[in-house]
Amino acid sequence: RILGAISVTTTTATTSRDQLLSLAGPLSRVTKDFGPVRVIHGVDLQVRQGEFCVFVGPSGCGKSTLLRMIAGLEETSAGQIMIENQDVTDADPADRGVAMVFQTYALYPHMTVAQNMGFGLKMNGHPKAQIAAKVAEAARILKLDPLLDRKPANLSGGQRQRVAIGRAIVRGPKVFLFDEPLSNLDAELRVEMRAEIARLHRELGATMIYVTHDQVEAMTMADKIVVLRSGRIEQVGSPMELYDDPDNRFVAGFIGSPA
Ligand code: ADP
Ligand code: MG
Repeated sequence: RILGAISVTTTTATTSRDQLLSLAGPLSRVTKDFGPVRVIHGVDLQVRQGEFCVFVGPSGCGKSTLLRMIAGLEETSAGQIMIENQDVTDADPADRGVAMVFQTYALYPHMTVAQNMGFGLKMNGHPKAQIAAKVAEAARILKLDPLLDRKPANLSGGQRQRVAIGRAIVRGPKVFLFDEPLSNLDAELRVEMRAEIARLHRELGATMIYVTHDQVEAMTMADKIVVLRSGRIEQVGSPMELYDDPDNRFVAGFIGSPA
């Protein structure tokens, strides 16, 4: 079943929002310009529930912008975003059922691991016992139990990344959003964390949208790869489809198959 779809269109799109809705029910529409500059051009996309969807493309192609629009961290200039049949285009980030994991971790240095993971729930007024239970569960999944009382300064890069992921898990999102979460890690740790995130995906069964400029990461992790170039989708497909049957030279060059 289709979980939601992102449709990013230009403001001159000929199809109306209503038409799109009646076409596909769970389809969603979104559009965004930075001032006079259009950085995403007419993107249509559907992401299935439980799918591991990877946005890949060169630096500046719009991967982060697209992800931030889904997260609600960037306003959409036009179009619509739907998540599990709900139009979240104009919804508050906290009300979208998404949780984002950033490249820079964005942990609070003065808080312990447990406090960092529970902070969002605390701000939303969840009872203490419930927060503790959710933090304990996330810590178990991520094998962070022995580190719950540590401060971020006393963690390795990989451990910090786990805490950042834990903070997303405790919120129980419908969709996890990752923006190049491993690019600050060294090569060896990157391989380890890739496997970790893949395990998490299997264990949680959650929908994940994962941004990377790393072709290997895309090929090894994705159910579905979305190849972006200059704010447009070049091709969408499974790793094998893109590898065996690239639509054009750009995709072929990017995914590494001889054209
Ligand atoms: P990627 O994540 O693929 O590297 P981005 O989504 O960060 O690309 O950026 C896409 C384009 O949008 C780039 O040309 C970038 O310069 C531009 N851009 C991103 N954020 C802003 C902003 N806040 N204001 C103006 N332009 C932006
Ligand atoms: Mg980016």
